Amino acid sequence: MKKIRLILGDQLNLEHSWLDIIDPSVVYVMMEVRQETDYVAHHIQKVMGIFAAMRLFADSLREKGHQVEYIKINAADNNQSIGLNLDSLIKKHNATGVSYLLPDEYRLDQTLTAYASTCQVPCNETDTEHFLCNRTELEEFFKAKKSYLMESFYRHMRKKHDILMDGDQPESGQWNHDASNRKSFPKQIVFPLRAERARDLSKLQEEIRKSGVTTIGTVDETRFRWPINRQEALSDLDYFCNELLPSYGQFQDAMHDGTHFGFHSLLSFALNIKLISPKEVIALVIKKWESKKDSLPFAAVEGFIRQILGWREYMRGIYWMQMPDYALINALDHKKALPEWFWTGKTKMKCLHHAISQSLETGYAHHIQRLMVTGNFALLAGVNPDEVDQWYLGIYVDAFEWVEITNTRGMSQFADGGIVGSKPYTSSANYINKMSNYCKSCHYDHKLKTGDRACPFNSMYWQFHARHRDLLEKNPRIGMVYRTWDKMSEEKQQALKNQAETYLARINEL
Ligand code: FAD
Ligand code: SF4
Repeated sequence: MKKIRLILGDQLNLEHSWLDIIDPSVVYVMMEVRQETDYVAHHIQKVMGIFAAMRLFADSLREKGHQVEYIKINAADNNQSIGLNLDSLIKKHNATGVSYLLPDEYRLDQTLTAYASTCQVPCNETDTEHFLCNRTELEEFFKAKKSYLMESFYRHMRKKHDILMDGDQPESGQWNHDASNRKSFPKQIVFPLRAERARDLSKLQEEIRKSGVTTIGTVDETRFRWPINRQEALSDLDYFCNELLPSYGQFQDAMHDGTHFGFHSLLSFALNIKLISPKEVIALVIKKWESKKDSLPFAAVEGFIRQILGWREYMRGIYWMQMPDYALINALDHKKALPEWFWTGKTKMKCLHHAISQSLETGYAHHIQRLMVTGNFALLAGVNPDEVDQWYLGIYVDAFEWVEITNTRGMSQFADGGIVGSKPYTSSANYINKMSNYCKSCHYDHKLKTGDRACPFNSMYWQFHARHRDLLEKNPRIGMVYRTWDKMSEEKQQALKNQAETYLARINEL
């Protein structure tokens, strides 16, 4: 008689207390199922990365002496459903109980809760021991407050966990160093080399192809980039702390057609599948800073920790507070289809071409590319947030709904009406030109607002604000936009609207 413990593909936490004891009465169950590969078309690197990491994780458990049942995607006895596979394994092992780790996604939470209620043996859940907050801490923190300001949650987290604090005051006397973290790349910048991993995942790729799973994007299967075990993730973390962190802060928002990654950590995939924990990432960054205070700018350290301790935990809390309604809200009533070139990168707009092509090629784009290039365009164009969500959820290797939807529907598309962001993140070409070198080699002219060569962002920016005036005008953070608009002549306003509408009418040709 055995007890079954289910571990999902994004729960690869080797440090979990479940694994402290080798218990011969426990069977760990892991499975690759169509239920998880087919709810959206995922990037090939995401499917490969998760399956490869799951298989190595199962090997590690076996090496430690744990008993493991692993169902591969093409196994003859794979029912392609978590529930059906569990039922078979309960029978096979004559199991007396099932435990599972709390899923991060609402969809899976519902599936497993429903399964537990009909399961033939007692079925219970356990924490993944990964996050700093439980699912409801953020909701409790904001209970008596009027808005869900990330900054106040972040300060609460700094104090609660005594991170970068000097007594009850923030280290350096300032909570937020964003102002120092907004530089573009200088002309002579040398981008860091990213170590390539020479390993061959072509057999796995072939298995996925044979299974019939639909994927998007491309992969160099002989040099798979993403970390697929804990050692690799820790080595990436180490490389980031030693080589990239000093420049991370200042160039956090910068974009360039000569780099896909800039000085970003590329840790989101490893974090989201739990190869490493936010606590250890934060601890190592602080340790490096304490040993190198002269050469490591505090703004970089604070800027990075804010992403992990602040934004990441905040987005998860918002998700659990707002789901399932969050997945349906469309405050701006946007209904347009996503342009076809989001799936190919074939657009004359250099910024979008670069961000989308690199996403298809690597399964990665950094935050500002996601927010101010692809997200900004979809928002200004009025694309249905369902389509935007599907795209982001599929294309990025780090995309799991709890952190994808809150960033996409919330931060990027303002579809939540202002829960995550106090105003829509929109910009004309000005911002993209300031933060990148894209405009220099673009078919369109970032300075022009109308005419065939005018940058589409310029007219679409104004048309967006004009069409949402009723909703946005009273927002104190946007008042200036409307004051500038009102100072324009009617002819100029009309020309901008006409230009935007011309572009939107032939959006697939831009
Ligand atoms: P770094 O810049 O090195 O940041 C370090 C870490 O901080 C990241 O690994 C991540 O864990 C965390 N982080 C940073 N910003 C955020 C944020 N806004 N929300 C949550 N965590 C954050 N992140 C995902 O992990 N999965 C997603 O599916 C995802 N979708 C996004 C969609 C949109 C439209 C936008 C604007 C952002 C999205 N993000 C998502 C947040 C962020 O862009 C990525 O976490 C980051 O680009 C990952 O690259 P990195 O590890 O090099 O990040
Ligand atoms: Fe993007 Fe416009 Fe600049 Fe071209 S000109 S790169 S479309 S912002």
